[in-house]
Amino acid sequence: MKLFKRPLPGADAFSTAQTSGHGIDRREFLRRSGLSAGGVALAGAVPLSMMKKVDATAAPTSAQPTGELKRVKSVCTHCSVGCGVIAEVQNGVWIGQEPAFDHPFNLGAHCAKGASVREHGHGEKRLKYPMKLVDGKWQRIGWNQAIDELGDKLAAIREQYGPDSVYWLGSSKHNNEQAYLLRKFAALWGSNNIDHQARICHSTTVAGVANTWGFGAMTNSYNDIHNAKAIFIIGGNPAEAHPVSMQHIFRAKERGAPLIVVDPRFTRTAAHADLHIRIRPGTDVPFIWGLLWHVVQNGWEDKTFIEQRVFGMDDVRKEVAKWNPAEVERVTGVPEELAHKAARIMAQNRPGTFIWCMGGTQHTVGNNNTRAYCIFQLALGNMGVEGGGTNVFRGHDNVQGATDVGPNAESLPAYYGLSEDAWRHWAKVWGIDFDWLAGRFDQSEYGAGKTVKPMFNNGIPVSRWVDGVLETNENISQRNPLKAMVFWGHAPNSQVRGPEMKAAMEKLDVLAVIDPYPTVTAVMHDRKDNVYLLPACTQFETYGSLTSSNRSIQWRSQIIEPLFESRPDHTIMYQFARKFGFEKELTKNIEVENDTPLIEDILREINRGAWAAGYTGQSPERLKAHQENWHTFHTTNLKGQGGPCDGEYYGLPWPCWGTPEMKHPGSHILYDTSKTIAEGGSPFRARFGTEYQGQSLLAKGSFSKGSEIQDGYPEFSADLLKKLNWWNDLTAAEKAQAEGKNWKTDPSGGIIRVAIQHGCAPYGNAKARCIVWNFPDPVPIHREPLYTPRRDLVQQYPTYEDRKRFWRLPTRYASIQQQDFSNDFPLIMTSGRLVEYEGGGDETRSNPWLAELQQEMFVEINPRDANNAGVRHGEQVWVAGPEGGRIRVMAFVTERVRPGVVFMPFHFGGHYEGRDLRAKYPEGAAPYVLGESCNLVFTYGYDSVTAMQETKVSLCRIEPDLISERASGRV
Ligand code: SF4
Repeated sequence: MKLFKRPLPGADAFSTAQTSGHGIDRREFLRRSGLSAGGVALAGAVPLSMMKKVDATAAPTSAQPTGELKRVKSVCTHCSVGCGVIAEVQNGVWIGQEPAFDHPFNLGAHCAKGASVREHGHGEKRLKYPMKLVDGKWQRIGWNQAIDELGDKLAAIREQYGPDSVYWLGSSKHNNEQAYLLRKFAALWGSNNIDHQARICHSTTVAGVANTWGFGAMTNSYNDIHNAKAIFIIGGNPAEAHPVSMQHIFRAKERGAPLIVVDPRFTRTAAHADLHIRIRPGTDVPFIWGLLWHVVQNGWEDKTFIEQRVFGMDDVRKEVAKWNPAEVERVTGVPEELAHKAARIMAQNRPGTFIWCMGGTQHTVGNNNTRAYCIFQLALGNMGVEGGGTNVFRGHDNVQGATDVGPNAESLPAYYGLSEDAWRHWAKVWGIDFDWLAGRFDQSEYGAGKTVKPMFNNGIPVSRWVDGVLETNENISQRNPLKAMVFWGHAPNSQVRGPEMKAAMEKLDVLAVIDPYPTVTAVMHDRKDNVYLLPACTQFETYGSLTSSNRSIQWRSQIIEPLFESRPDHTIMYQFARKFGFEKELTKNIEVENDTPLIEDILREINRGAWAAGYTGQSPERLKAHQENWHTFHTTNLKGQGGPCDGEYYGLPWPCWGTPEMKHPGSHILYDTSKTIAEGGSPFRARFGTEYQGQSLLAKGSFSKGSEIQDGYPEFSADLLKKLNWWNDLTAAEKAQAEGKNWKTDPSGGIIRVAIQHGCAPYGNAKARCIVWNFPDPVPIHREPLYTPRRDLVQQYPTYEDRKRFWRLPTRYASIQQQDFSNDFPLIMTSGRLVEYEGGGDETRSNPWLAELQQEMFVEINPRDANNAGVRHGEQVWVAGPEGGRIRVMAFVTERVRPGVVFMPFHFGGHYEGRDLRAKYPEGAAPYVLGESCNLVFTYGYDSVTAMQETKVSLCRIEPDLISERASGRV
């Protein structure tokens, strides 16, 4: 999207033009930045562009490189699609990029971000060396000093306030091995106060989906969408957020699949839809129940599927009965005709795929939304089939992998939770004494009524770290509030309640950033000291595996040596571990060379422990073979067609059962019973026991192809093997390890091997459940957002009661909703992504190719609202929120949003309530494009299960910025 042609505000590289008062036009920008016009046109093409070989002479390197040209296979770091990248490297310099035509996901296509990753790798705006803030000025320091000084401060805080007083905030940008190592690092430090971006993008998906049928991930793949007979997208805008995924959506569309897009805004994705439906933000559950109402009324359910494989649909029918067309229209704004049409399209075009993204997840009822989506697919029998499924598009390139094996406040790697059994399992994998490990944690007990030790208690989620700092000792379920934050690859502007965040940053004893870029964390506060910036490598300067949204694990090779003084994340982790005295425990099974733990060994350790998620078959050797043979995989079903990976699915999508020697092919489509388990098939998981209130939870007459048990069955354990007389199928060595264990904790993998040998899924064969009895709303129901303009609905659809202890903190719901803010703040505010930028945007706004394409933060406002507020297109306006945040941005007057709703992108930062913070960045490290963060205005509100922030619906007021408009002579 191009708004206005303006000079890049204050960009260092263009300081002459800035100071002389002349703007830089497009031609000048291209000339100075060494870009070709064709390159920019290509990057700006929406949304799919073919890469074009970059001419080495066009690269902005001073010398003309000579020598052997190497082609290195990597993966784009900007979203979960996982597009292949081929880098051309000469004399250690990344001089060009070629299309990865034979990569099974992107077939040569890239979006603007992927087309410009070379600029990211060589980014001149990078944080170049360790720095600290002294009397408000950045001072260069060496790595030894940085580790020593910061390490001493963190250790002193641990000593005085306890291990929970330091927060290790990890990243979806780590590769799997780094993400895993950081989770282990936090365990050895002695705290569960660790988390990453998944908390604020898809934690409600993970919880909702996993609690419906077993695993919390995309069930099919981007490629499998080719097989869909209908495509339903709600709360997602893949044309901007996951551009290359549109290639797969278009393939289905070209084959006749109608595309339904449900979004309050007319997005670029909606522009391709056969049916676009605008719902009022925050009304997903009533809308989905409204569709299901038509499904039930017309008998469109798949009754056999429900009978055999679904538990609790009758309870859903009772709730759905309340959502007749009139009530749906009253609450959501969607007329009966549209709801009926959408339901009919999905019913008459099966299997259909169901896609969602953060428009559905970022709500106080996010877990209700995701479960409602799942139930809709279950009702139509669209699960476990090619072309069907719930295709959840994740955000960052490795947010899936970091969720699976990395830094999470409520779980050990591979979703083992925090029970003593889980800790004992991983302590054994790590070769560490459990009692020693337990002794690293605070030994006090916390909580009202049911007390729990911090080791077994969820940490503070990243969404609430601000409260972890600002809350009083009495209210917080740990010894002390947070005293230090380590931002290891996380942008703070992606989180709500900016003014309170600023206060929290200023209250901390120590603030540290470990990142390729300084990020907004470096400048948002008014601190004068005790802030450290440590330069980390990008993923192009190291190597390892990452897990794309479809669960495929891809190998990413190193393209260049670390630039400037940056170091790989896992090297930095090792060096801090040594400083704290636990480096031997961190790397007991892992070779270390030059302070760098061997990535392959880390992955092998994951393989030895991550049975519960099936991260065990993907050895480094198998993943490297897949990388070498991109071209041999089918581009729809992802299956190897001959060659070294024959019969395996690309990236061995998890679960990839058993040891690598078992050669399991990975699971392309989850819950597909038409294939044997050995071929990658699976039933729904028996995760929630075998019965509920006297009714069986096991599948009825449904089982996987080749299963010797031709009905439902529980998860496998040593006991079950014995009852089935299959125990003697284990080898003597396996028996010795499997005794007393279940499939998740048997270190030999024998229980899994024998179950599969008999055609059974190690995790059992159950029904998917529509009632999650351990959640606040067992059947998803509608609750109005905390900040709602529909005061007439609050009494009928109230939010939750305030909670005293929720993820260690008091959490407000009703006490906010009961106040009426809608008179002063009459507009519904929502947020989303742009094609040019990603996440908090520091990396992409520092990339000249992308910065040129999108130069100014804006708010989309309908002409009616703009006219009523006296605002004109292109003018500066103030957006104010009910909690006191206010930002100054450009008005983009458009009918993309309907009256009463405004939209803002969330990638901007570096301005604060009208002030430009450019001067506060370390010299030369400010991104080209700065702007206000919409999250200065976004407000309180957390999902009732996962503490996901509510960034898709709040309230605001828009006013013209009369001072700047007067200065321009327009008023
Ligand atoms: Fe592909 Fe996503 Fe990278 Fe774009 S940002 S090239 S869609 S991986």
